[in-house]
Amino acid sequence: MVYLDNNATTPLDPDVAEKMSRFLKEYFGNPSSLYPIGREVKEMVNEARETIAKTLRAIRTEIIFTGSGTEADNFVLRGVLEAFPEKKELITSAIEHPAILSTAHYLEKTGVKVTYVPVDKTGMIDLDFLKDAVTPHTALISIMHANNELGTIQPIEEVVIIAKEKDILVHTDAVQSFGKIDVDVKKLGVDLLSISAHKIYGPKGVGALYVRKGTKIHPLIHGGHQEREMRAGTENTIGIIGFGEAVRVMKEKGPEDKKRIEKLAQRLKKGIEETIPKAKFNGHQEKRIKGTINFSFLNLEAEAILLALATKDIYVSTGSACSEGAEEVSHVLNAIGLRPEIARSSIRMSLGRFNTEQDIDTVLRELPPIVENLRKISALDIEEED
Ligand code: PLP
Repeated sequence: MVYLDNNATTPLDPDVAEKMSRFLKEYFGNPSSLYPIGREVKEMVNEARETIAKTLRAIRTEIIFTGSGTEADNFVLRGVLEAFPEKKELITSAIEHPAILSTAHYLEKTGVKVTYVPVDKTGMIDLDFLKDAVTPHTALISIMHANNELGTIQPIEEVVIIAKEKDILVHTDAVQSFGKIDVDVKKLGVDLLSISAHKIYGPKGVGALYVRKGTKIHPLIHGGHQEREMRAGTENTIGIIGFGEAVRVMKEKGPEDKKRIEKLAQRLKKGIEETIPKAKFNGHQEKRIKGTINFSFLNLEAEAILLALATKDIYVSTGSACSEGAEEVSHVLNAIGLRPEIARSSIRMSLGRFNTEQDIDTVLRELPPIVENLRKISALDIEEED
């Protein structure tokens, strides 16, 4: 199998699987219990919290565990807007993940004014537009760190400069950047940041929100005292232990992973450009997560390519996995100005820790004839755009 959909999810790292399986067999205590079998689990949860905090250059009490990256994103938008009832404005971008966009749409229905910052054709936000969109009523600016479909990395530090002049909180959805590039809350200067375990070879169904000390935000779930009363409910202990271990392994293997993935991705990108005519690269050439490669194969339906590749045991995506099947054309590709028929021909390949040179050989052998054969039977005939 050649798995090139690591932005959708990653396989569990064997070290993480090992740690989780040991935990499952040996520990069952409730972290809120005061006797030893509860306390030892609480300590392990806090160890995971410490590992994650240190990696982000935060402190332990600034990390709140959530049920997913999506939950962390919901939490931020709703929690901050609720905490500032006198400020009813939110600024975000047109290419956010549905976890942000759908929450923003929900907030609009409750009377919040949302401004969507447009992007250029590389997927980079328009900073001048953002600057002009800020008003005294802006409670929060939420701009993703790296885009899941294109890999484009946003200038978060510059967003922070604009926001801080006006005392506005800044959130970044770092679900796709964490583990792929340096994610340092101090360097970025953000107040809030979301991450998710299953994008970094950890388990699904656990995420975290960084909340800078002193930041005003309303709780997401009311109940017991867990997660500093911000997100009540008995903790997903197994998920949290796995998340912590995934981050520990990431620190160990991350630098080597990054080098290898970049090299493989570069070979794949170059190979496609050299062997497949009318293959249009989408995204920023430099400022992007290098392991994310998005191409439009003009005159084809991406789904046909995806299915043909799947018959060869090669797995790619036609866009964000979460939105697959849910919309005609990706809102991200639409926002970078691709015509619908070109957007519908786009494939995302995202590399990860377990990809090999052989995987790239396989794709470069199988993909060109698939595209060629499908084009022979395609009724479409679009000329390449500049
Ligand atoms: N934000 C981004 C940028 C993502 O890519 C994803 C998942 O694809 C999410 C949020 C949602 O994370 P989760 O799958 O943990 O809910």
